[in-house]
Amino acid sequence: MEIKGVIDLSLADWDGKVSSVFFLPNCNFRCPFCHNSTLVLHPEREETIPFERVENYLKKQRGWIDGVCITGGEPTLHGDLPDLCSKLKEMGFLVKIDTNGTNPTMVKELIEKELVDYIAIDIKAPLTVEKYSKAIGVDAEKLLRKVKETVRVLVGSKVDYEFRTTVVPTLHEEKDIEEICRGIKGCKKYVLQKFDVSLGKTTLDPEFGKLKPFTDEEMKTFLTMAQEILPNVKLR
Ligand code: SF4
Repeated sequence: MEIKGVIDLSLADWDGKVSSVFFLPNCNFRCPFCHNSTLVLHPEREETIPFERVENYLKKQRGWIDGVCITGGEPTLHGDLPDLCSKLKEMGFLVKIDTNGTNPTMVKELIEKELVDYIAIDIKAPLTVEKYSKAIGVDAEKLLRKVKETVRVLVGSKVDYEFRTTVVPTLHEEKDIEEICRGIKGCKKYVLQKFDVSLGKTTLDPEFGKLKPFTDEEMKTFLTMAQEILPNVKLR
């Protein structure tokens, strides 16, 4: 298993939980606003962290850390992800996966084998090929079918999950958020995240690093509109 980055301790990556965060390389999307472009475009430039090293750390932190968030890149591109989840579960940790939703078969397997406790799936845009392609930077024709299947898997499952959208100026406006909400009706939790480069993060397309984020007022407008369609929506 290639682990390319670790945050030892995070309070921000899993609501209500103290977690460690593992970053896995590669992605089949090229979202222009992506903050992890090295992991996506040049993962070979990042050192691979041996599992033994993070295992030792986790053993020492038992009792302090509730679980491990596995993010990327796109974790489900890795055939050995179920093994990693299994090892973490055996160690007594909860497991959360962040995914772009393009591997419904693996998501189903993780749920059925009870290897995952929480899944966060990104909904990048309204579920049309044109809008999705623009948001993910590659042709969405085939990938979108997979995303929709993962949406169905999650809505029909008992696993805890959230759908989330990073709201990006130039990609999204109010009617897009409305369209997304109508496309994921039935989901039990939806999170609107503000795209924000103010913390000095770089973006896959440098032009997106120059964008002015939506204001808090604008985000509240999106929230109010989303709450008219879905029962449980929050801002992050
Ligand atoms: S933001 Fe897009 S390109 Fe970046 S890791 Fe996530 S899905 Fe991949």
